[in-house]
Amino acid sequence: MPVLTDIATLATCPPEGGQGEIGLIENAALVWEGEEVAWVGSEVDVPEAYAAMPRESAEGRTVIPGLIDCHTHLAFGGWRAGEFEQKLLGTPYLEIARQGGGIASTVKATRAASETELHGRARGFLDEMLCLGVTTVECKSGYGLNMEDELKQLRVYRQLAEEGPQRVESTFLGAHVVPSEFKDDRAAYIRLLTDELIPQIAGEGLAHFCDVFVEDTAYSPDEARTILNVAATHGLGAKLHADQITDLGGGALAAELNAASADHLECISEESIAAMAKAGTVAVSLPLATLYLGQEPMPARRLIDAGVPVAVATDFNPGSAPSYDLHLALWLACTRQRMTPAEALKGATAYAAKAFLRNDIGSLQPVMKADFVVLDTTNINHWLYHFRPGTVVRTVIGGETVWAQSPSQLSS
Ligand SMILES: [Zn+2]
Repeated sequence: MPVLTDIATLATCPPEGGQGEIGLIENAALVWEGEEVAWVGSEVDVPEAYAAMPRESAEGRTVIPGLIDCHTHLAFGGWRAGEFEQKLLGTPYLEIARQGGGIASTVKATRAASETELHGRARGFLDEMLCLGVTTVECKSGYGLNMEDELKQLRVYRQLAEEGPQRVESTFLGAHVVPSEFKDDRAAYIRLLTDELIPQIAGEGLAHFCDVFVEDTAYSPDEARTILNVAATHGLGAKLHADQITDLGGGALAAELNAASADHLECISEESIAAMAKAGTVAVSLPLATLYLGQEPMPARRLIDAGVPVAVATDFNPGSAPSYDLHLALWLACTRQRMTPAEALKGATAYAAKAFLRNDIGSLQPVMKADFVVLDTTNINHWLYHFRPGTVVRTVIGGETVWAQSPSQLSS
């Protein structure tokens, strides 16, 4: 039962409370037993029962809950760096798509990749995310768009979840776009999703959530309703990619369907904000995607002021957000969305856990999982203000140190 002391600032990030309430404790100590937090508080108050336990010093640094990236498309084939250059040179997306680029090229490359290849790449991404303090990652399918290749993506996620050390949450996104082979009969593809893929995936326990991309170029609100209602009968929770380019009332739809989260929301209406606030739906902001697309980001300030919990994630994918740097997403949430560092942190911890209904991670309180990060900074404001590489000195998952800047810390 180790005791971590000499913590300049510890943020407990309680699940309750408002966006900026991160439960700061100065001169703190943290005690964990096995996988779980046993005690947290001021160092002077460490209970007698833990006095004789082995002590480690945080050397005046900051401790936060393990970061949760609650929206990624982690396993995919190929990259699209050529498109990055084309877009910078002014080629419209539709022209890129006409030349065989865009999401269709990722679907083609993902179908061509073996499960082993997809796993190897995703493994590498997760390993690099450890040094950013990312301890849980939500991963979506949606680049297979047929039975065989959607299952392949989800099986990669299951294998990664079994391997650890990160916790992996899988989401089925067969309704990402309509695959080209069904472009003249989209109803047939939706039947494939509802009658075959969803029952198979739920039956194998390959995902906890079903996600639908609601957009003019993807699925209508009515189609999303159909798909997510079927998913619910199979025990899959709902999530939505909503109101990204067009306001189709996606936020209100997420509230109506009791979805755990609505993600993107760059173009959300006041009606949808009110509906989400009433339903308690989490809004997931993806500021890296809006940066790459040159869009205005989600109006996070308006959502927060209306009482909607806002999570912040990377949307890591090869097209619109080819980076899994969650620290950068948090910094953008501050600089472009006027979230305070405390609000951004809550968005990548307690509220990120809420975006997929986990109540055992994202906060440092007794019986929560002992997932935490030691940051080389004295407080949260300074961390996101003095944005720099190498701030994470140690990442701990379930009480085990899984990454450390200094190898000697790995033995502890
Ligand atoms: Zn996405």
